[in-house]
Amino acid sequence: MNDRPYKVFKIDNGTVIDHISSRMALKIIDILKVQEQGIISIGINFNSKKIDKKDIIKIENVYLDKKETDLIALLSPNSTINIVKDGIVIEKRKIDMPKEIEGIIKCPNPMCVTNTYHDCSTKFIVVRYDEASTILRCYYCERETPVLPMLIQ
Ligand SMILES: [Zn+2]
Repeated sequence: MNDRPYKVFKIDNGTVIDHISSRMALKIIDILKVQEQGIISIGINFNSKKIDKKDIIKIENVYLDKKETDLIALLSPNSTINIVKDGIVIEKRKIDMPKEIEGIIKCPNPMCVTNTYHDCSTKFIVVRYDEASTILRCYYCERETPVLPMLIQ
């Protein structure tokens, strides 16, 4: 690949998620539940100075709040968030690992109450995390699991 500067469609208003770990963009869209909101531009496998390859997501006319963007930490803790209004970045935000995750991740334990009762939504406590993985503990059955893309509901 040459050094041609690849660009994702510029947005004047909305949320830009940059420095996403490579190939996580589509799963992050799932986590954020923004599929139905506004126009979403996705760039996958961009060259990056900061990390080897990165993905970028731009969500037009949607301003994600801190609680929402912190969910991105589950899959890509080094991502950065820019909130853009009228073509100007009005907020540069870093993401923090949430302490609890509700209703995003499915418990891997088939006997867990969250898998046997339809009206019981999942809840996990973040036990520990590092660059490589995030470990969650189910609030109900106490099963520990790393965050795997297949567990995202
Ligand atoms: Zn469970």
